[in-house]
Amino acid sequence: MRYYDYLVVGSGLFGATFTYLAIKNGKSVLVIDKRDHVGGNVYTEAVEGVNVHRYGAHIFHTSDKEVWDFISRFAEFNNYVNSPVANYKGELYNLPFNMNTFNRLWGVVTPEQARQKIEEQVRSLDIKEPKNLEEQALSLVGPDVYEKLIKGYTEKQWGRDCKDLPASIIKRLPCRFTFDNNYFNDRYQGIPIGGYTPIIKKMLAGADVLTGTDYFRFIKDHQNIARKTVYTGMIDEFFGFCYGKLQYRTVCFETKTLDQPNYQGVAVMNYTERDVPYTRIIEHKHFEFGTQEKTVISYEYPTEWQEGKEPYYPVGDERNLALYDRYAALAETRPDVLFGGRLGQYKYYDMDKVIRAAFTAFNKEIN
Ligand code: FAD
Ligand code: UDP
Repeated sequence: MRYYDYLVVGSGLFGATFTYLAIKNGKSVLVIDKRDHVGGNVYTEAVEGVNVHRYGAHIFHTSDKEVWDFISRFAEFNNYVNSPVANYKGELYNLPFNMNTFNRLWGVVTPEQARQKIEEQVRSLDIKEPKNLEEQALSLVGPDVYEKLIKGYTEKQWGRDCKDLPASIIKRLPCRFTFDNNYFNDRYQGIPIGGYTPIIKKMLAGADVLTGTDYFRFIKDHQNIARKTVYTGMIDEFFGFCYGKLQYRTVCFETKTLDQPNYQGVAVMNYTERDVPYTRIIEHKHFEFGTQEKTVISYEYPTEWQEGKEPYYPVGDERNLALYDRYAALAETRPDVLFGGRLGQYKYYDMDKVIRAAFTAFNKEIN
């Protein structure tokens, strides 16, 4: 095998962006991925003519114009705007929390009435500095919204009591006093026409790519394959879990093809009550306004990560962040390895943020 400038471990968005920039700058790159395909978690595949997001629904949204211009070079984006619906015991509420939600909950009609209602509820709780997710949610929207739309969903998603979770998780969700069901506040949003996989393939053009190749097995026989390694797998696994294991949440996806054109009328329906075992049902065709005769739906069942499963969500609580800091200090002692992405940096990155992180990492490399 030849000698490369970079061995990129993982062909997700971080690895693919880094590879694209490296190739453009005249570097040679070998990309390996243990999965049997490229793309990491943004991988999409066609089923019955519908682009199915195999590892969970991915909606591209950003306010970072440079990132938007970059990703738009590889695909045309449609005008999908994410407007999920929450289903609580058969009652349907618009998300994120907005005037439509508040009207359905309390019958309030004006923003002033909604604010008053929330203020009344929050005042009686007397929370000064929210210390955890429960207090953060209660002080933002009050107990009614919390009990119906947050508590059950969050505890299923994270497998932990809301009192034991960091407030930061819920800060992702907008709360607004307008009739606007757009889940995101970002300037740019959409789904790539044709799915995400073609984007990744274009980004990797010019690199050598080996799928079905696990780094730890591969490196034993190819110690001197590259000048530098860009590693986007789990940082704790890289160091043999020497300080112990970081925790992740995983999701089991149960995907079905149904012989009907429209199952739920929306791409994302969240089931916010505790007793329904899944958190949401994705109906993929609605991401691209599909008119196929059949439809494909995926149930999402979150569970704790164990070896052999896919690690999706870093658990950003105090214990894990402190443990990550120890691994990050160890990473500093390895100038031959650059750690990147959701798993390499143990960070709850969205797609745009991971692209931005790859830009930053590459710029640091060439300077
Ligand atoms: P990944 O895509 O995980 O890529 C890492 C790659 O490394 C994988 O392909 C893996 O197989 C490979 N790898 C790991 N270990 C090894 C090894 N030992 N040897 C070889 N290969 C290895 N973001 C949004 O902006 N919008 C959304 O709507 C959105 N929805 C999401 C829904 C879910 C369910 C999840 C989990 C995430 C979502 N995200 C979303 C976040 C988005 O998926 C990430 O920001 C992005 O995919 C991270 O890219 P990455 O390259 O860091 O990691
Ligand atoms: N959340 C909630 N109810 C919902 C949707 C989300 O309480 O109906 C909370 C939950 O804690 C979740 C967080 O908001 O982990 C962030 O939600 P988002 O949809 O951004 O999560 P992701 O798509 O990354 O899984």
